[in-house]
Amino acid sequence: MQMPKYVEVVEVGPRDGFQNIKTPIPTAVKLKVIAGIIAAGVKTVEATSFVHPKAIPQMADAAEVARAVAAAAGEGFRPIALVPNLTGAKNAWAAGIREVTYVISASEQHNLANLNRTRDQSLADLAAIISELPCLKVRLAAATAFGCPFRGRVEEDLVISLAAAALKLGATSVILCDTIGVADPLQVYNLVGAMQREFAGVPVGLHLHDTRGMGLANTLAGLEAGITTFETSIGGLGGCPFAPGAAGNTATEDMVNMLHAMGVETGIDLDKYLETVKIVREEIQQNLTGHMAQACKYENL
Ligand code: ZN
Repeated sequence: MQMPKYVEVVEVGPRDGFQNIKTPIPTAVKLKVIAGIIAAGVKTVEATSFVHPKAIPQMADAAEVARAVAAAAGEGFRPIALVPNLTGAKNAWAAGIREVTYVISASEQHNLANLNRTRDQSLADLAAIISELPCLKVRLAAATAFGCPFRGRVEEDLVISLAAAALKLGATSVILCDTIGVADPLQVYNLVGAMQREFAGVPVGLHLHDTRGMGLANTLAGLEAGITTFETSIGGLGGCPFAPGAAGNTATEDMVNMLHAMGVETGIDLDKYLETVKIVREEIQQNLTGHMAQACKYENL
């Protein structure tokens, strides 16, 4: 197997994970977890989401969190925030965020259910964001890139057409999201290949959920296909509103453990990172779906 030398880990726990937790998490606890993630060596963190606080009350402190993380950003650190629309993008910019994730679902039905807009309406808003905030970097998160709860398996063409439209408008990279955790390794490998053939030179990343236990298998398929950017979440926080209690995102610590075992560098100190997983377990959510927090210590002597 051919492995890359380095993988960029994009930590999405503070956004994807926290937004799925109903009990309000104090801002100070969020900042403590983010600080721990950064201290362990993670260079890219999706810190929050500038959604309307009525839609997701957990993200009501988005500006405060973003400001703190952006201010603390050291050399080579990239703070990211998710934005659902132009208002969110403007608020993110005002809080010091210079790179955002903008979500559009490959499946029209999911875009309507999740964002109450058609794909074309979401693309029109993306055009507005890019024209009003030309210095803001926008990454497209293509949700339901593999499967949709309403449509079933999502055809590659739908993902390609969405990515083509967003890139034409000025998006700088594409993240293929297995929003409900239904992708299989062959599907991941094939979609990545199709993206590479269609958009040579465009950075493509993967956001793989572990709902059905295929998070790491799909990660491996992505690695084999040449992907070097993966979005994961601390403790495996996150999830799918359609499957309450199910595992959420692939756990950062599990993926980092797998990568390090294969000699792939991440720049992350896993022992240090696990100290922050412990904080998450003690102060935010007891039942974590990630494996490494429970595993005993194993030194490869
Ligand atoms: Zn996710």
